[in-house]
Amino acid sequence: MSRPMEKNIAVIGAGISGLAALKCSVEAGNRTTCFERSDNVGGLWGFTDYAEDGRASIYRSVFTNACKEMMCYPDFPIPDEYPNFMHNTLFLEYLRLYAEKFDLLRQIKFKTTVVSVKKSIDFTETGKWDVVTECDGKQKLTTFNAVLLCTGHHVYPNLPLQSFPGIDKFKGQYMHNRDYKEPARYTGKRVLIIGLGNSGADIAAELSRTAEKVWLSTRSGSWVMSRVWDNGYPWDMVYLTRYQSFLNRILPRALSDLLYENMMNKRFSHENYGLVPVNKSSRKEPVFNDDLAACITCGTVVVKPNVREFTESSAIFEDGSVVDNVDVVIFATGYSYAYPFLDDSIVKNNKDKVSLYKGVFPPKLEQPTLAVIGLVQSLGGIPPTADVQARWAVNVIQGICKLPSKETMVKELDEEENEKKNWFGRSETLSTDYVAYMDELSSFIGCKPNLLLLLLTDPKLAWQVFFGPCCPYQFRLKGPEKWDGARNAILKQWDRTIKATRFREVPSHTEYSYIIKLLFIPLLLAVFMAWLNL
Ligand code: FAD
Ligand code: NAP
Repeated sequence: MSRPMEKNIAVIGAGISGLAALKCSVEAGNRTTCFERSDNVGGLWGFTDYAEDGRASIYRSVFTNACKEMMCYPDFPIPDEYPNFMHNTLFLEYLRLYAEKFDLLRQIKFKTTVVSVKKSIDFTETGKWDVVTECDGKQKLTTFNAVLLCTGHHVYPNLPLQSFPGIDKFKGQYMHNRDYKEPARYTGKRVLIIGLGNSGADIAAELSRTAEKVWLSTRSGSWVMSRVWDNGYPWDMVYLTRYQSFLNRILPRALSDLLYENMMNKRFSHENYGLVPVNKSSRKEPVFNDDLAACITCGTVVVKPNVREFTESSAIFEDGSVVDNVDVVIFATGYSYAYPFLDDSIVKNNKDKVSLYKGVFPPKLEQPTLAVIGLVQSLGGIPPTADVQARWAVNVIQGICKLPSKETMVKELDEEENEKKNWFGRSETLSTDYVAYMDELSSFIGCKPNLLLLLLTDPKLAWQVFFGPCCPYQFRLKGPEKWDGARNAILKQWDRTIKATRFREVPSHTEYSYIIKLLFIPLLLAVFMAWLNL
């Protein structure tokens, strides 16, 4: 495919999304500059001892909750020697390797903050943006043909103090989990954590080892999954498959809900552990935690309902129960978005909610020259999602792909908003079905795997693509930016996963099962013969 004239594109942020955007923009032949306010790539994954203004902040013990085969960029597998789920320091290392491999570092202007992004005076005709950056106290204005916004969405804490009467009288310490870094400060303390998302569950389990007591309050419950799923494989390699997504689409909703509930309750009953979601069929993001159930059953974490009010030293819950002498309250109540350098009306609708076509394009702009990468939250890892979004966005900016009319986009967004309220429950993040979303975007840019063709030409690969994990490599099997290593990466994904956990020679599982099967066949034959004789 011949590429149109190169554009001058600004990428804001050099986290997972910014690196994907930069790489895809350069790959498509554009002059691209990436602005990053910190001095390194990796965004959220760069741990710091204290939360920094305008940047995401994580605690020291964060591990990825998507496994290495699902959390990599589609043309750059995570090194064999990395574990399946990675500590933040290791995942940051992978992001650096990616930046080096594709020679991205020299296009990044570090310690440079974007302070304003405004439509140029001739925007209606040209779609250009005036971008003001600040470095060493000096401001500079540059005009770009397009802007890719990659500034993350776990930066600005959602601290809903207005929902907690009496918190102003509370004499202990309270804070958002953005400021939580490690457990040492909480040794011997009585800690109440509000919010059962991944942060709340992680922090509760971590503090349970050293705090005097930990209470975890949840207003609507959550499904809690283990990273270690069937036969010890990562949950996402087993669950995030095209086959599963197909079943979700064709099965009647009631049956699909029943199967989902059954799957979630396989390890322990969420009812018995007080965790069950108020809306059981809600597909809001589950919590991934291998320790929480053990903490609950060992009594080191106690699950409570929502807090009705605080007194000077106690929390009174909605069921009337009271916890006295609380030392610390940690609000693990999630995040809200903000783009302080941009006019809000560009990304928000008239209900003041971020509203983007396919989670990427503001629908009402005169020209489609601004795209948001990495905002959509799906069950899959962010790197492949950001990669496919960025490729599509660059194609639209270059005029290779066209967006529907403004009216069509707005109508679709309104319809989606209503649907998601039922399907994904109450959540501040934009959520969507991973496989369906990836397929839709990849179909726009001609890289959606063609299953029928694969079945005829490469059945072994087709089997893995349909029944195996819907891994990132699937989206670089074909199309203009295809990666030649994709087929091999798909066929070897299970081997790499096992290699990451087995460091000792063990008798092979298949040998045993083979012997069992061999013993089983005569037994079956005998039963069959006996039945014939009757
Ligand atoms: P960020 O990582 O936040 O990067 C944004 C970058 O933009 C930063 O480097 C920032 O400095 C820069 N920036 C911001 N504003 C400006 C500006 N004005 N000018 C210049 N630069 C700017 N997702 C997963 O897929 N798997 C996981 O396991 C996972 N674990 C998570 C754990 C935690 C604790 C949290 C909070 C989130 C987790 N997420 C996970 C979601 C997470 O948001 C993504 O993994 C990912 O980090 C998002 O990348 P990003 O590039 O969009 O944003
Ligand atoms: P989150 O998923 O948004 O969860 C916030 C929690 O706070 C929810 O349980 C929510 O309850 C509750 N809440 C919000 N407002 C409330 C209110 N007014 N009153 C009572 N409860 C309230 O936030 P998060 O846990 O910080 O996670 C953010 C993102 O980071 C997620 O995508 C997550 O996967 C990721 N993360 C990953 C890891 C990891 O292990 N890799 C660790 C931490 C976070 P409702 O459910 O009722 O809305």
